Amino acid sequence: MKTPVIDMSECILCEVCIDLAPHAFKINDFGFVEVLPLEDYDEEAIHEAVKNCPKDCISWE
Ligand code: SF4
Repeated sequence: MKTPVIDMSECILCEVCIDLAPHAFKINDFGFVEVLPLEDYDEEAIHEAVKNCPKDCISWE
């Protein structure tokens, strides 16, 4: 199973990924984007987030 991973050293907290794949990403209590631990991710939505992240800092692992 693939899991989305964010390179937090690059993330600018623009929240595009949250808009495109709210099932998988959220802002956590510390104000950073977090990948929610799921059994299964909506691949199409994650792909859109990967594609549209302005910093190119989301990858599948
Ligand atoms: S789209 Fe990319 S830069 Fe924007 S919040 Fe998500 S991971 Fe960070």
